[in-house]
Amino acid sequence: MDSGLTADVTEFVKGLDTAMESHMAWTRRILRCTVLRADPGGDVLQDDAHTLCSFGQWFAAHRDVLDALLPDGAQRVGRAHKAMHDAIRAICRRALLAELGQEAELDAFEEAQAVLLRLLADVKTSVLTTTARLDPLTGLPMRYGIEYEFERCRQDAVRRREQLFVVMLDIDHFKAINDAHGHLAGDFALREFAAVLRAQVRRNEPLYRFGGEEFLVVLRTETPGQIEAALDRLLEATRASEIILGSGQRLRLTATIGASLVQEADDFAAVVGRADAALYEGKRGGRNRFVLVDE
Ligand code: GH3
Ligand code: MG
Ligand code: MG
Repeated sequence: MDSGLTADVTEFVKGLDTAMESHMAWTRRILRCTVLRADPGGDVLQDDAHTLCSFGQWFAAHRDVLDALLPDGAQRVGRAHKAMHDAIRAICRRALLAELGQEAELDAFEEAQAVLLRLLADVKTSVLTTTARLDPLTGLPMRYGIEYEFERCRQDAVRRREQLFVVMLDIDHFKAINDAHGHLAGDFALREFAAVLRAQVRRNEPLYRFGGEEFLVVLRTETPGQIEAALDRLLEATRASEIILGSGQRLRLTATIGASLVQEADDFAAVVGRADAALYEGKRGGRNRFVLVDE
């Protein structure tokens, strides 16, 4: 999943924590309002209070991320948040009119608060586990959980009648780059290579740092012949990208690709095994090329 989280995880989690704290604090505001008849403030009493409160604003700015983290995340969080505002408004209005409180309104508040806090806790767990899977160097996910994602891609491809390919990419003579320019320059080159790949693949084609200077992407195509063009594009984009090191030196990379069509009976290990064998055939054949196994 690429939800743009890598750079902003700390800010995102802090925003979540603040939201959870401020909504917990509402229980105290209700208590003060009912016991002391204290005005709970405009962000409670107004009909559109759920859009005015600090969580409402944070929520509006992070809808996409919430959707990426939980199925229907934005809709579910938005609904629970509004329900909580509706419930608290009803309770406080009645208290300020010195009317007797209604048990049903308290129940609605408690339930809405429990739902919202549970959802926000799930969002937080999801963001932390997602982030833990990301490679700190390139920001790409690492291979853990890849089998699960592969199954999801496979089911989706069957539904759309698309062909699925597991594609392994390995930078050519990468050790020589480390040897010539140092490990930090090597790290920089790896990040640049990852960025080139990321720009080439579509949203529904998951890309991983498989290990070291090896990457894996699951590509999909609609018509025969498209895969060769896609693999050529990956090779060409790699060759075309000029990497300018901190020292001012410029270098270009090449990569070798092994790709395998996913067959109906394949498990992930089988198809990776074929792609890996194709990759080594490409290396033996001279590198800077792809080898495709499509039967
Ligand atoms: P080939 O064309 O056969 O793939 O040659 P190669 O040199 O790319 O392959 P080899 O497996 O001999 O070397 C891979 C190198 O990648 C060795 C290792 O130090 C380097 N490497 C792996 N991970 C990292 C990393 O995170 N940073 C840096 N700087 N280097 C890395
Ligand atoms: Mg390698
Ligand atoms: Mg290599």
